[in-house]
Amino acid sequence: MSHDIPEKQWAQVIEKTGGPVDYKQIPVAKPGPDEVLVNIKYSGVCHTDLHAINGDWPLATKLPLVGGHEGAGVVVAKGELVTDVEIGDHAGIKVCIQSSRDRQPLTTFYQWLNGSCLACDFCQTGDEPLCQKALLSGYTVDGTFQQYAIGKAAHVARIPKDIPLDAIAPVLCAGITVYKGLKESGARPGQTVAVVGAGGGLGSLACQYAKAMGLRVIAIDAGDEKKKMTQELGAEAFVDFSTSQNVVKDVQAATADGLGPHAVLLVAVNEKPFQQAAEVCDSWKQVCVI
Ligand SMILES: [Zn+2]
Ligand SMILES: [Zn+2]
Repeated sequence: MSHDIPEKQWAQVIEKTGGPVDYKQIPVAKPGPDEVLVNIKYSGVCHTDLHAINGDWPLATKLPLVGGHEGAGVVVAKGELVTDVEIGDHAGIKVCIQSSRDRQPLTTFYQWLNGSCLACDFCQTGDEPLCQKALLSGYTVDGTFQQYAIGKAAHVARIPKDIPLDAIAPVLCAGITVYKGLKESGARPGQTVAVVGAGGGLGSLACQYAKAMGLRVIAIDAGDEKKKMTQELGAEAFVDFSTSQNVVKDVQAATADGLGPHAVLLVAVNEKPFQQAAEVCDSWKQVCVI
């Protein structure tokens, strides 16, 4: 399959920290020897993108910057060293998750990994996000808010062609993030997980993955709309933190044995649930902070 690659493309570009974001034409990059050029069809937008624009984090972004790290599309060009990705393949530029097993609460680190050295200790033990030479999509290298984005072939997601790319795009960050959290929680089919912030972007995906993994879900969020939504996504119980007199007790009461869930997945950004989860760490056996 051939694809005419234009010289120029449309992109959302940040010229300086703090914005604005300009929709404008920029050149299409050429892939290096170990890279692929992906014609992005869909890209998710993440809260991280806002942090990148506003310069909220200690690590400086490149400038000018094209944001985005959850893009799905079609490979249209590749470098001469790339042998396992073909032109026409579907590929995703995505995040990569690493977790710290010796921390409690269990903490997952996620990075918008575009590429890593593949040779250092971290890379060779599956901890690529800790690589000192990691390239970050939409942060230290241009990301997916453009028609044609570069990714290291070793790190792009291989996407089967029968899966719709619009459904895949948000999975490449939000989905991977909560799936990894659920896996790391150690919860097994039949056990219960409580999802704090279950009605949000991450939480709604977590409910679906948890159900598909055979887990029972207690959704924690606020309001009838979130209740309805999380129950449609498979949650067995809903605790409304805005009206509950005692969230901890209500969550425990929602489990079959009254002893609380096997794990708590924290995907909310508020401080209070963190404190509540920590308070009951003894009974909520695993707290997983995303
Ligand atoms: Zn993200
Ligand atoms: Zn490395």
